[in-house]
Amino acid sequence: MSLASKNPSIVYWLGDHLYLNITNRCSNDCYFCFRRYKSGINGFNLKLREEPTLSQITDELQNFINRRAWEEVVFCGFGEPLEKLDYVLEVTKWVKKHFPITVRIDTNGQAYIVNDRRNVIEELKEAKVDRISVSLNAHNKETYNDVCRPKFENAYENVVKFIEKAKGQFDVEATAVTIPEVSILKVEEMARKIGVKFRLRAYQPCFW
Ligand code: SF4
Repeated sequence: MSLASKNPSIVYWLGDHLYLNITNRCSNDCYFCFRRYKSGINGFNLKLREEPTLSQITDELQNFINRRAWEEVVFCGFGEPLEKLDYVLEVTKWVKKHFPITVRIDTNGQAYIVNDRRNVIEELKEAKVDRISVSLNAHNKETYNDVCRPKFENAYENVVKFIEKAKGQFDVEATAVTIPEVSILKVEEMARKIGVKFRLRAYQPCFW
């Protein structure tokens, strides 16, 4: 059976990490995005047929969270998790209430644009999110717009602002993908100046 014909997964795993694919929406259209070329990963189809409800997410999570001693629950799939901020908050609160597991969010950093008037960082902190990994991907706006093709004109400024606000509140890292248009050294230098860790990701955008 091909991956695309399998039932889509909200919950999937790689090693000891349990991942949540809670949306396929994203305010970027990165040319290197894994979802442009693949239907999923590790035998899981991540192309959702419809956007899941909160109860569909929690039902599926409850089916799998006890299966082994997961090291981490990670919001990361074929879309931007913070497009569904309320779901991230609810699911994180539930996980942290019942399990001693680290919760991480992999994000494009545009949460303040897609969640107008929300105190995103404060709300994530209150829900007890532990780690945030932000796809910075460029040392300037021009390169970012070229490779990530954001819907919003002020996307890059918001990504930088998001990292600055998250710094010190969570375990934060900025990341970049190994593509020729991006000067990894310059992005790394920028992360260092902001004061967060830097991690290089292989050309396979959303995954470890
Ligand atoms: S790589 Fe991430 S930020 Fe870029 S389009 Fe794909 S899901 Fe969105």
